Amino acid sequence: MRSKMLVPSKELVEAARADGYAVGAFNAVNMETAQAIFAAAEREKSPLIIQVTQTTMAYTEPEDVAAVIFSLAERATIPVAVHLDHGRSFGIVMRFLKMGFTSVMIDGSLQEDGKTPRTYEENVEVTRRVIEAAKSLGVSVEAEIGRLGQIGEDASTALTEPDEAAKFVKDIAVDGVGIDMLAVAIGTRHGLFKGKPIIRSDRVKELSDRLDMPLVMHGGTGVPDEDVRKAIEAGMCKVNIDTQIRVAFYHALRDVVEKQEKEYAAADAAGETRRYDIRKIIAPTRDAMTEAIAEKMRLFGSAGNA
Ligand SMILES: [Zn+2]
Repeated sequence: MRSKMLVPSKELVEAARADGYAVGAFNAVNMETAQAIFAAAEREKSPLIIQVTQTTMAYTEPEDVAAVIFSLAERATIPVAVHLDHGRSFGIVMRFLKMGFTSVMIDGSLQEDGKTPRTYEENVEVTRRVIEAAKSLGVSVEAEIGRLGQIGEDASTALTEPDEAAKFVKDIAVDGVGIDMLAVAIGTRHGLFKGKPIIRSDRVKELSDRLDMPLVMHGGTGVPDEDVRKAIEAGMCKVNIDTQIRVAFYHALRDVVEKQEKEYAAADAAGETRRYDIRKIIAPTRDAMTEAIAEKMRLFGSAGNA
């Protein structure tokens, strides 16, 4: 059965655009990350985009993560879009459409290997094919022009040009039907920043005015809160958060392991047996991820909008 709360992401990002907030798109890699994401959205009464990135396929079968997500969506009381992040080929997008995803990103900037750049024409071609397939199913499409910054790169040199973006959006439309949102480079990078990023909210505004569509910020984790607020005011309607979840998980795991080690040492000293329990180790990490996600939902202004 399909949850009544499942919606295409277009609905969520357009409502966000009309009201001047952004919807967070949070990456799930397993049951606990998915549970943390849903728990935060329910608590904050926030619309939700939960996403699975193509690279997760190297870790687990995406169908297994999707099964957990759709099960959680069954009980959801907030609207939720289930989104493929950085799909790199038509075949991959089809696999996720079959799972019932309501939103997909076709990242046509790189070949399937995630390294070799695609030409502009190749990006247009693969994006058009995805639009044709997704639109007949009522699924929203996010595309990307140029290449978004990676860890260790100088992101300030690769900003999205409004003219180029406008041409791309026009070129990829199929019979007048185009994408629903565009990922743009405005100074952010995937992963964590070293030093302070320069976020060009003036460029966001230019792009938003010119394209008249919701814009997507990738690499939102290391951006200072004030810059995130400005970028959302200027037209960012979807902000991807992955690294922040990983950081919250890691810190909580380290703390719980440290505490556990002390308890084991005490048990050893007292001649008692150690009690190993996976649940006791993992539960605090899930709570910490929920907190980190809820904080982002409040920052983006999506809290209270479900
Ligand atoms: Zn990204």
